[in-house]
Amino acid sequence: MAQPAHGWTAYVGVGSNLDSPQDQVEQAISAITLIEGCFLVAKSSLYRSAPMGPSDQPDFINAVVAVLTLLDPRTLLAKLQEIEQDHGRVRDGERWGPRTLDLDLLMHGTAVIEEPGLTLPHPGIAMRNFVLLPFAEIASDVVVPQLTDVATLAQRIGTSEPAIEKLAL
Ligand code: ADP
Ligand code: MG
Repeated sequence: MAQPAHGWTAYVGVGSNLDSPQDQVEQAISAITLIEGCFLVAKSSLYRSAPMGPSDQPDFINAVVAVLTLLDPRTLLAKLQEIEQDHGRVRDGERWGPRTLDLDLLMHGTAVIEEPGLTLPHPGIAMRNFVLLPFAEIASDVVVPQLTDVATLAQRIGTSEPAIEKLAL
């Protein structure tokens, strides 16, 4: 993949619902800023939402960050997965189950990729208000490849399913 002279803008969704989720999210964002070749450009507010899927689990805390990165998508995703591991995420196979930390590569420049282990843009974006609301806060005009701009996607999805609220700073 050709690298633009000044790197790519990538967006990362951060989520947690275990072990002090707010701290997990803040620490994960700090860890992202320490990835070599990644520079934090913007950070959304934190949002609290009711869990998707199994409801016998704590609320989620979510945020989205923008980074300027010199890393290609696979390399960046591998770094994000290292951070997930460091935060003790256990992949027990339960979809949408509780997790200490979930890092999703939402977009990487204008890349459209469908490969084992890496889909870009992230396929969940258009269905998840806990991604779209924080995403719209920092990148409302950005067009998600093959969809539309983030603000429009956020308006379509609304704030009720799951119930979501922005946390005070
Ligand atoms: P979700 O975040 O959708 O709840 P998981 O985090 O459990 O699900 O899924 C992780 C898997 O998804 C990993 O195996 C990873 O390789 C794959 N994956 C594919 N595309 C992406 C992406 N854009 N960002 C993060 N993980 C991705
Ligand atoms: Mg994930």
